[in-house]
Amino acid sequence: MGSSCGRVCWKWRSPLRRLAGFSRLLSTAALAPQICVVGSGPAGFYTTQHLLKHHRLARVDIYEKLPVPFGLVRFGVAPDHPEVKSYGAEDNRILGIPGENLSGVYSARAFVGWYNGLPENRDLKPDLSSETAVVLGQGNVALDVARVLLSPLDILRKTDITEGSLAAIACSKVKRVWLVGRRGPLQVAFTIKELREMINLPGTRPLLAPADFTGLGDVIKDVPRPRKRLTELMVKSALEKPGEKEAGRWASATKEWGLKFRRSPLEVLSAADGKQARGIRIAVTRLEGSGESARAVPTGEVEELECGLILSSIGYRSLPLDSAIPFDPKLGIIPNSLGRVQGEPGLYCSGWVKRGPTGVIITTMNDSFDTAQSVLEDLQTGVLHLSSSKEGFKSVRSILHSRGVHPVTFSDWEKIDAAEVARGKLAGKPREKIVDPQEMLQLISH
Ligand code: NAP
Repeated sequence: MGSSCGRVCWKWRSPLRRLAGFSRLLSTAALAPQICVVGSGPAGFYTTQHLLKHHRLARVDIYEKLPVPFGLVRFGVAPDHPEVKSYGAEDNRILGIPGENLSGVYSARAFVGWYNGLPENRDLKPDLSSETAVVLGQGNVALDVARVLLSPLDILRKTDITEGSLAAIACSKVKRVWLVGRRGPLQVAFTIKELREMINLPGTRPLLAPADFTGLGDVIKDVPRPRKRLTELMVKSALEKPGEKEAGRWASATKEWGLKFRRSPLEVLSAADGKQARGIRIAVTRLEGSGESARAVPTGEVEELECGLILSSIGYRSLPLDSAIPFDPKLGIIPNSLGRVQGEPGLYCSGWVKRGPTGVIITTMNDSFDTAQSVLEDLQTGVLHLSSSKEGFKSVRSILHSRGVHPVTFSDWEKIDAAEVARGKLAGKPREKIVDPQEMLQLISH
């Protein structure tokens, strides 16, 4: 990837550190547009790829706040999904319920960051001492964290999960994970491939209440095909007699996971010490309306579920980037038109900050190509005024220099990469991620 970019620069403690997924046209040199992409996650790379592929003279510099590139490709995707590697935004949505800050309650984002070696989450030390864990939310991230909690160690050991998290999971007492959704089986947010993987997870059995699925076969006749197939898989697993092999596996399983529907979180309950979570109070809901837009409305009935580990997996959200840049806090996006930031000529956005935290890698790829296309069109039509007085990276470098910031370059990253791969080799893994930024910087100190 390094060779396809004109120059790649990872900055450490950059003043631009929260401008993920951004591109601003900085300058021209001999009519060569110099483009600055802030954030080296999938949106940043796909935007860059399209620009370089379709503009012979374009020069792109990618900036990153961490000493290592690739954003949530490195830090977000489950370690046992090396073929997917992608999704991202800067923060998680908050439940906004009492007890959310008790010990034993974590955002799935922090938990994912912890097992993926994200420096800010390396000291999370999640409490895995209880038998039952509750994951709030029924999206793909919820399935990711449930799968990592329940996966046999032999599977995890071969991934790039960090050694520290692997050791903690090896001592984990968690043997049951409930994924709790506020709506019904027809509104789950996860997708079929991820569900199938969960159903087939060695050493585990699914807990699906037949009553939740009875009669769904008729209802789904007219729903779009992906939702229909997904529901059919749940119905089959819940209502049909398993085959011999599956029945044997489920009978000998030592761990289990299940889906609870029409349950909305009300309060995290504390243990006698007032510090530790001991369970969750949930409101039983009913659905108003039908299909994707059905709303969960409390029935007045309340339940309690005992658990010592609660992971809130209700979606990610982007943060406002800079007071000078428009931001819609409700939608968590930068108002834009095909990636052109409203009222800010020359500034573009792509990725989740452009459209919200939805979709898989291919969605981000297409969306980033669209943004890059807007840049190319604006270059072609002359909407963008290139000026040789703007020096692009040259001027950024002198700002960094005056502030005493030493950027980490792509070749520096290659040294960190080589060290991680070498350490991984010793442990039979693709890499052993270094989780301490200071250690990374020491590796490349000249
Ligand atoms: P998501 O797909 O938006 O799912 C969020 C879940 O949280 C939904 O079940 C939602 O229920 C629930 N929820 C939201 N607010 C809630 C609240 N206040 N109380 C209770 N429940 C609430 O988010 P995600 O799982 O974080 O995934 C984000 C994106 O990354 C998705 O597009 C996902 O497909 C993608 N991803 C893909 C992969 C992969 O390709 N393997 C892996 C991980 C993530 P409602 O529907 O009722 O709002």
